[in-house]
Amino acid sequence: AVIAVTKERRAGETRVAAVPETVKKLIAAGFAVTVEAGAGSAASYPDADYAAAGATIAKTLKDALAKADILFKVRAPEADEIAALPKGAIVAAVLNPYQDKAQLEALAKAGATAFAMEFVPRITRAQVMDVLSSQANLAGYRAVIEGAEAYGRAMPMMMTAAGTIAAAKVFVMGVGVAGLQAIATARRLGAVVTATDVRPATKEQVESLGAKFLAVEDEEFKNAQTAGGYAKEMSAEYQAKQAELVSSHIAKQDMVITTALIPGRPAPKLVSAAQVASMKPGSVIVDLAIEQGGNVEGAKLGEVAVTQNGVKILGVANLPGRIAADASALYARNLFAFAGLFLNKEGQFAPDYEDEILKAALVTQGGAVVHPQLKS
Ligand code: NAD
Repeated sequence: AVIAVTKERRAGETRVAAVPETVKKLIAAGFAVTVEAGAGSAASYPDADYAAAGATIAKTLKDALAKADILFKVRAPEADEIAALPKGAIVAAVLNPYQDKAQLEALAKAGATAFAMEFVPRITRAQVMDVLSSQANLAGYRAVIEGAEAYGRAMPMMMTAAGTIAAAKVFVMGVGVAGLQAIATARRLGAVVTATDVRPATKEQVESLGAKFLAVEDEEFKNAQTAGGYAKEMSAEYQAKQAELVSSHIAKQDMVITTALIPGRPAPKLVSAAQVASMKPGSVIVDLAIEQGGNVEGAKLGEVAVTQNGVKILGVANLPGRIAADASALYARNLFAFAGLFLNKEGQFAPDYEDEILKAALVTQGGAVVHPQLKS
């Protein structure tokens, strides 16, 4: 079977769905790989390295897709890609299916068998294919780097002959994969770190990283984790109590990093304009949830919003794309593992659509949207 890897077309997308290392592995597993010229250049992977790994370099999109059985992408294919896709081809990408409904419909109409990588279940066997974790981890790291860059002071405590500089106080809201990495990164830079989440299991994780935990620990908090390990949407009453608790805390912070998400729902609003206004001039907020609507009032996608009192709110789009070489390498390994599900025991191309992982991630097939959560 032929796997095609095309250039990401969405503005600002620097990642690529295969790297030379995974191309080599895919070929060893029995696939042929075609890479559109320039597909990896924004992530520092030149065409020559793909060719050396055994890929065929296609000059045009049409050539890249002409014989494709499978298309690997970071983002959903755009109209020109869908138009060039052979009927019935498999697509694996981060499809953002709750928001990008039109693109999903277009994939269905084109007869594609599309998998949304974010729907891969978080079971042990699928950990190696977990693109949410691989990308969120790097986003959490990069958020602190972006924040530190925008912050006009030092992160660590420094004792100098000219006097002492205080360590920055960093508050991380939402302690999933991204939040944990943000805590670890801020700690490595020498900040004093506190964190909050609605899932009780996070308390121990926060403390094990050397940060302090802060949360309203009532009955609702004790039951805030779903069986799947995600957060529930909290009641208005809980959110009010939470806001009250964190208000006085936020006023004392130099940096706030928000990462709170609820699957399939808009991001919860955690930081109000009044709380932002309570922060010192020069403080920085990084809103990692900005692409899902944002956790912070006043945050704008793709912009640095500077408030009247001099607080910078960073709404950086696509944080993993700012660390594109590593983000691509991890994403490509996730897809390499996923490709293994298309092979039978003899190593032949024969996807088993009854497989638990493929079943959970399958969103379009046979001309229709087939995922139960997406059918309207
Ligand atoms: P996520 O990206 O969905 O959300 C980020 C964090 O925001 C979560 O910790 C969530 O509890 C928190 N949050 C939601 N609403 C909030 C609110 N109102 N206030 C404060 N915080 C709020 O989360 P994620 O990073 O995908 O992780 C979710 C879970 O999945 C975790 O338990 C994680 O350990 C688990 N996980 C499991 C696997 C696996 O088993 N393979 C892999 C990765 C993550």
